[in-house]
Amino acid sequence: MQVNRELFNEVMVPNYNPSEVIPVKGKGSRVWDQKGDEYIDFAGGIAVNCLGHCHPALVNALKEQGEKIWHLSNVMTNEPALRLAKKLTDATFGEQVYFANSGAEANEAALKLARRWAIDNYSEEKTQIIAFNKGFHGRTFFTVTVGGQAAYSDGFGPKPQDVTHVDYNDLETFAKLISDKTCAVMMEPLQGEGGIIPPTNEFIQGVRELCDKHNALLIFDEVQTGVGRTGDLYAYQGLNVTPDILTTAKALGGGFPIGAMLTTKEIAKHLKIGTHGSTYGGNPLACAVAEAAFDTVNDAQLLADVKRKEQLFRDGLAAINEKYNVFSEVRGKGLLLGAVLNDQFNGRARDFLVASGKHGLMALVAGTNVVRFTPSLVIPDEDIQAGLARFELAVADVVNG
Ligand SMILES: *Cc1c(COP(=O)(O)O)cnc(C)c1O
Repeated sequence: MQVNRELFNEVMVPNYNPSEVIPVKGKGSRVWDQKGDEYIDFAGGIAVNCLGHCHPALVNALKEQGEKIWHLSNVMTNEPALRLAKKLTDATFGEQVYFANSGAEANEAALKLARRWAIDNYSEEKTQIIAFNKGFHGRTFFTVTVGGQAAYSDGFGPKPQDVTHVDYNDLETFAKLISDKTCAVMMEPLQGEGGIIPPTNEFIQGVRELCDKHNALLIFDEVQTGVGRTGDLYAYQGLNVTPDILTTAKALGGGFPIGAMLTTKEIAKHLKIGTHGSTYGGNPLACAVAEAAFDTVNDAQLLADVKRKEQLFRDGLAAINEKYNVFSEVRGKGLLLGAVLNDQFNGRARDFLVASGKHGLMALVAGTNVVRFTPSLVIPDEDIQAGLARFELAVADVVNG
């Protein structure tokens, strides 16, 4: 059957507006579309393809597990899930793991756990959740309500209650809001979708201290920052602030859907038998692929290389900016980078994205004013250079109208 982009409008619910290009094949950081045109991938499936496309370790894990056992349900446990949970807990503060299928589901579990923990330990009144403007936590009704863009949660009727938002990096307002009625604070340790906004040290440490003071759980949503993205295995490890609950997804499966919530035994015990669950969560196929991805990324040399590759991006973008003067700054950490457009190009991030596509480069935006790059963590240096050369052509197109 011949399929094309027009068919999308006919048979797909119109909640997405995908590009005209339909990729059919990928290898490393290169992708080919239906016409055979080649692209360099600086998007990485939105920070998911941490090892690029069709990495041998992931393909082997998928094939091997695919011939053993795919799915059991949580009526039984399985070897890949047990191994992955052991590795995640060995490598982080987390002592126990709940597996889900996506970032939103991992966050949903975290929020439900925090509420249950507070009600069990304190009172029915300790239900407030504080989150941050521009934050993003997924699209289930609870997570989108906790997310910091009302436009995404409006228009669906009554929302989950007792969720309050303040500006990221505004410790003073946060300090006034938090109280003993706060059950949890949910935040990204570097805002991704909201525009690649890093926390100040003072802010993130202050949030941790105030959570301790008011017996509120600190939940780090590391769905985008986790699994090597910032050059640390998890971003919290580079910030010297440890959360009580951490969620991880995106890069965790390297392209296979999986999510997880990590926490301490003391907190985890409140998700008693029957309080929460998922049919697919922790299925052997997903966990086998994730285990291979995790083994590959949890490597000192690979993580050091992420930081080195960050510098290649920063140097390349600075050189482009010297010539064309389009960015006010480049923000972010590791290979989660955002080129912020200056006043002259304010709000035109999408134009840069479209121009990049025309020159064979897949990039992303974060809001209307930031061009975002989240390539494979093992993107070859030559592909970074070649991709930046394509990006320069795109920038020239936008600047020259
Ligand atoms: C992408 C993302 C999510 C949502 O993950 P899904 O797998 O799409 O549900 C949640 N939080 C953050 C920080 C994200 O970047």
